[in-house]
This record gives sequence, C-alpha cells and structure tokens, in this order.
Amino acid sequence: MSWQRRIDSALEQRRATDSFRVRLANQQGSARYLVQDGTRYLNFSSNDYLGVSQHAEVITAWQQGAEIYGVGSGGSGHVTGYNEAHQQFEQQLAAWLGFPRALLFISGFAANQAVIAALAEKTDSIIADKLSHASLLEAAMHSPAQLRRFAHNDVASLQTLLAQQTDGEQLVITEGVFSMDGDAAPLAEIAQATRYVGGLLMVDDAHGIGVIGSEGRGSCYQQQVQPDILVVTFGKAFGVSGAAVLCSEPMANYLLQFARHLIYSTAMPPAQAYALSAALDVVRRNESRRVQLQANIARFRKGAEQLPLKLMASQTAIQPLIVGENQIAVNLAATLREQGFWLTAIRPPTVPAGTARLRVTLTASHTSDDIDSLLEALYDATR
Ligand SMILES: *Cc1c(COP(=O)(O)O)cnc(C)c1O
Repeated sequence: MSWQRRIDSALEQRRATDSFRVRLANQQGSARYLVQDGTRYLNFSSNDYLGVSQHAEVITAWQQGAEIYGVGSGGSGHVTGYNEAHQQFEQQLAAWLGFPRALLFISGFAANQAVIAALAEKTDSIIADKLSHASLLEAAMHSPAQLRRFAHNDVASLQTLLAQQTDGEQLVITEGVFSMDGDAAPLAEIAQATRYVGGLLMVDDAHGIGVIGSEGRGSCYQQQVQPDILVVTFGKAFGVSGAAVLCSEPMANYLLQFARHLIYSTAMPPAQAYALSAALDVVRRNESRRVQLQANIARFRKGAEQLPLKLMASQTAIQPLIVGENQIAVNLAATLREQGFWLTAIRPPTVPAGTARLRVTLTASHTSDDIDSLLEALYDATR
C-alpha cells in the first residue's frame, strides 16, 4: 500500500465512524466565555479553573519578563537556555510543594514522556491506572518496559499486579484527579502498596494542582502523600502552560542526564517562567477563587441531580454527565451550543464504550446565573 492510500484510508475510516477530529479556531477564550465565529458562548469546557489566564498580574508579569529577557530562551537548558527566571520558579515550586527539587518542562505531555523514557528499562514493569492520561500510557507503551494496567482506583487490583514476579523494578503511575471522570485516587493506599514492594510512585496531578488543598498544593499534599515523582502542569489552574517534575535531588540529577525531552529541546521562554512565578503567587493567595469554584461545583451537582443523566461521583471541577450513546451525546452538545453553551461530547475510545458523556468543567469565573442557565438548558434538552 502506498503512503497516499494508507493516509486516505485512515481518514476515510475516521469519517465513517463519526470520529473525525477537527479544530475550531476561536477569537477569544477564557474561563467563562468563548468567542467563535463572532458568537459568544458560555464556556463549560475550560481547564482554566481559577480564571488565572486572564489575571492582570500574570499578564503584566509576562510582559515584564519579555522586556527583561526577550521572548525566547535561545536554546536547551543544557546549553544556554536555562535562566535565573527558570531557576527561581523551580525553587519556589519545590519549596511550596515540599520537595528537594523541581525541574521545568515545556508541557505535561513532554514531562510524562521524558520521565518514563528516562526511567524504564527492559525488565521493568510499569503498573498504571487504567484511566491514566494518554501521555502516560503512550509513553509506557513505547518504553522497553512491560505496561500493565490496574482497575481504576482499585488498590487490590494494583496489589495483585505488584505481587507478580518481576526481574526488574516496578513503576506505579496514577493521577491525583482523573481527567474524564473527575474522581480522585486513593493516594495513601497506593503509596503504601507501592512502597511495600520497593516500587517507585509517579503521580500526575494536572487537574489537582492549584485547585485542591491548602493554597492549592494539590492532591498529594491534601492526602499527605509524597510520591517519588510528582508531575504538575501549568496549562490548567495556573492558566498558562508548561509543567514541572518534583522529586528528590538524585532523581533530578538523573533526569538532567537522561531526560531527552529536556536535553534536546529548547527551554521554555524565561518570560513564561517569570509569568508562572506570578501565576503561582495568584494561585496561592486566591483562596476565594477555590471557595467560589467549590460553591459552583456544589450548585451544579445539586441541580444536575434532577437530570435524566448519570452524574458521576466527582467532587472536582470536572463534572461528566453520562449519556451512553455517542449520537445522543453529540446531539445534546449541538443543541446546547445552539443555545450559547460550549461543552464537549466525549466519546469512545477516549472513554469506555457505552459511556459517551457531556464533560462539563466548572471554573471560579462562572456565576450562579451561568450555572443555573446551563442546568435549565440541560433540563429542556433532555426532557
Ligand atoms: C492535560 C494533562 C496532561 C498534559 O499536560 P499539558 O501540559 O497540557 O501537555 C498530562 N496529564 C494529565 C492528567 C492531563 O490532564
């Protein structure tokens, strides 16, 4: 088969199964609103949980950072791209989260790929929660280690896999808050089971950092668990982009030797690191935004109980409404969009077959009226 035929047939298959993905360019997106083709929608699809992406102090810091350092880092951190702005932010993060070291990465995807690729060897086992993010599962699949998945949030299932004979080391991977279900992992039990066999625990807290716990320190801090590797990302509650790995001194030094995504890639612009320091400050200080977000979550859940859709047991900003069939989920999302609400229908294979859903994300920027009007539109659309 030629390249052309291979590509055409892959595209055809996507179209035939209604799973062809397209991107839509918006004119403006924020935690609360999205402007698309000149129409303004209430945005219930944003990860900007605290509205930090539009925060004046963060915008100003990015501008100031650009004036001080220019707009680019000029190279890999291992050559000349590592700047005092990166270093300061790494130190702030490490101190804030109670780890010896923090290393910045360009994205959460890159951080997860880098860590797994740097650690995993042929005889090792990577034991990951079944619902882990694609960036984790893909990295594990592409690694020379064997990937095994435990049932979602099921410690007994994890223990069964950990008990199996292995020649190499065991790396256990889970998340603080799961991106499609919004539920939280039992981190203390998972940490205990992992320690018991001498394994390494890696927790990706992309959706927990900034939102959960005192000062938004995240799921691990809240559950009083210190994983060997904590990945936090800055594209969600921090409102910017980028990521960091928090770890011990030797682990940081190891990653600096072997994490190819760090070594062979241009470092994040120093101005961005400078803006991230400001974002950290905003996140820490703004307990009121976290309180508002919790109030919005409670309001949504109370109203959504009246809907003929299954509400998941999520206490986080991610509030999926299970619809079941793909087409119904897509139609509901389209109906709501006509009425000015932007939310996404999530279908298999992103979620298990038969659990197509409307993925509602709430932010601190939504008002009570925003949430009530969404609920009303959902009642009407599902009646
Ligand atoms: C969003 C997300 C990522 C990817 O982070 P980026 O910085 O957007 O690349 C990784 N893991 C989880 C759990 C996520 O939700």
